[in-house]
Formats: sequence, C-alpha cells, structure tokens
Amino acid sequence: MSSVFEKDSTYIASTYKRFPICIASGKGSEVYDENGKRYIDLGSGIAVTSFGIADAEWQQAVIEQIGKVQHTSNLYYTEPCAELAKLLCEKSGMKKVFFGNSGAEANEGAIKAARKYAAEKKGSDYYTIVTLEQSFHGRTLTTLAATGQDEFHRLFQPLTPGFVHTPANDLPKLIETVHAHKTAGIMIECIQGEGGVRALDEAFVKGIAELCAKEDIIFIVDEVQSGNGRSGRFYSYMAYDVMPDVVSTAKGLAGGLPIGAVLLGEKLKDIFSYGDHGSTFGGNPVSCAAGISVINRIDEQLMAEVRAKSAYLFDILGKAEGIKEVSGMGLMIGLTTDKPAGEVVNKCLENGVLCLTAHGKVRLLPALNIPMELLEEAAAVIMEACK
Ligand SMILES: *Cc1c(COP(=O)(O)O)cnc(C)c1O
Repeated sequence: MSSVFEKDSTYIASTYKRFPICIASGKGSEVYDENGKRYIDLGSGIAVTSFGIADAEWQQAVIEQIGKVQHTSNLYYTEPCAELAKLLCEKSGMKKVFFGNSGAEANEGAIKAARKYAAEKKGSDYYTIVTLEQSFHGRTLTTLAATGQDEFHRLFQPLTPGFVHTPANDLPKLIETVHAHKTAGIMIECIQGEGGVRALDEAFVKGIAELCAKEDIIFIVDEVQSGNGRSGRFYSYMAYDVMPDVVSTAKGLAGGLPIGAVLLGEKLKDIFSYGDHGSTFGGNPVSCAAGISVINRIDEQLMAEVRAKSAYLFDILGKAEGIKEVSGMGLMIGLTTDKPAGEVVNKCLENGVLCLTAHGKVRLLPALNIPMELLEEAAAVIMEACK
C-alpha cells in the first residue's frame, strides 16, 4: 500500500471516499499514478480541468502571472480580474461580475443578490428561494439548504431558512410553490449534475424564465458544473434560449485553479454597494489569468467539437450492451447501467479509465479538448465494463 494512503487516512478528515490511486502527474487527458500506470481521464477533477492536465497554453498564462504578482487583495485594481470580468460579460450577456473562490461561494453571492433585490423591491419578507429536488448547489449551510437532497441535510440542522424544493419538470407544481411563499428567486441547474446528470425539459426552463420575468422574481442559473463550454454552449442556459438574471459559475472557469463568479444581469448589475459582499481571495490575479486563457479558447469551433464528441458518446454508448440510458448534454454525460455504477467505475479504473458517479449513474466529464482517439479508447473500456 502506498505510504500516501496511510498518511492521508491518518491526517486528512474522512470526508472523501477516494479511489485507491495516487495521481502523480499528467498531460492533457492522460494521467499517471505514482507507479507510472496510465489512465484516460474522463472526470477532469469533477469538470475543472477544462483543457486537461498541465495544458501548455494554460500553464503559460499561470506562470506568466505568478512571475508578476500572485495576490493583491481587492483593495487594488489588477488587469486579469477586470479583463476576465469583461470577457465573461461579453460571452454571457451578463453585465457585471463578482469573483469568489468556489461554486458554493458563487451561489451564496447569487442568493444574496436575489434577496437584496426582493427586499428592496417587495419587502424583506420576500426572501424565499425556490430550488429543485435532486439539485446540488454546494456544501455551505446556505447552499446545503438550497440543495434539494435530504440526505445532505439531516445532521446539520438548523440550515439557513428560506429555501423550498419542488420537483424538476413540473411547471404547475413549481408555480404553486412559488405562489405559496414570498419568493425572491428561483434557482436551477439547467443540467442537474450531482443529482444524476439530467438536462431539464425545455418547456420547464422556458416556463420558469417567463414566470420570473412576469412576476419580477430573480431567475438564478447555477452553471457551476455545466458552464464554461461543458454543455456544448458557453453556458447551458443558451441551449434553452433563456436569459437569467444572475448566473453562478466556478469549476471549469480557471481550468484547475480555485475561482467562483457571480454574473449579474441587467436587473441586478448594480445590486451590490460598497460593503455588501466581499472575498479576500476573490478575483485572485493568477486564477483570473488562468480564467482568461480558458475563456478565450471557448469559441464556436470548440463548441462544435464538444457537441460532436457528445453525439459520438450518446450514439455509441446508447446502443451498448448493459447501458439502459444516456443522459446529459455536451460533455456532461450520465449512464444508467445494468450493473451498479460503482462496480462499472471500479472496473474502468482497473482498465485505465477514470470515470465518476452521480446519484446511481456513471458520470463522464472529459476535458473539452479530449482527443477523439482517447475518447474512443475510453468508450471501449466503458462498454466492456458495462457488459
Ligand atoms: C460542484 C457544484 C457546486 C459546488 O461547488 P464547490 O466549488 O464545490 O463549492 C455548486 N453547484 C453545482 C451545480 C455544482 O456542480
């Protein structure tokens, strides 16, 4: 047994059930463990390493910025922070950005923006945020409250009040829930990730957007996992042809460095005033330089490639023995398998392919630029494991 396994289990809090490999290095979509065994990476550190491991262009951007200044605090201006915000607004249609460090923190910011807007516009009793069953919005006490999965809640009461959950794809029920409370905002993942890699129905998402516009309710889209090119669009809401009031994103945004962002649309662009919100590390120039290098590469050509690779996986895995259903969108894919998902993923690991699970499904989140040959090689391993 690796000495790392022992040291880790002695000194690291037991919150993670790790796979029994110690990753030592990698390049692109291939990683190597400490014994030199090679794996094709279909997890990307949970949708984080957008262009794979140690990508040359990404590395260059990071190294260059580290050579200049690694941190300044938000008391001063830096070029990477302003530039990344500009790029994000240009690509998303949002108007202003607040930077934090994680997905949960981005959602906290989005929730604060919605609550402040509703408090000023309708009264401070309009604080309820409606979210979906099987959603996942993070691990802080507030984003856990937003998360529509009871198993995460049980031992951590009391959670932040003011969150109610309603079933996905049931618009009449959602409208009933919204009207039963003094609702500030509705928060959804257009493609639920942790909850089982499910793309919401188009009519449902459009219905939410219309309801929000009509009743001046803040429409929040959590693009933490689905964002920054993963869905085959810059943001997944673009595939639904809707415009949120606020977008949260994180994971893949800086290609492997910590970052979170709250993107504020027209209605909310000036919601925050001095002192309303803040973060010591938020907008870190190294993370932002990495983010700029990632965002600049997410163009129409890359998106077309992501959609083509997605179509390939849907097709080949959809007709494979032992796979009942393929779900998701872009390179965010879930497999319902005859065998338990954990068993399939362990078999893949043994045979040199890293996959993930999500709510009983096998989950695939390869790098956006994974070479087709590696995707084919990995798909063959998955199909063999599912038989
Ligand atoms: C991962 C995730 C989060 C939480 O992000 P962290 O960076 O782990 O805090 C929130 N929302 C969604 C949709 C996620 O997939």
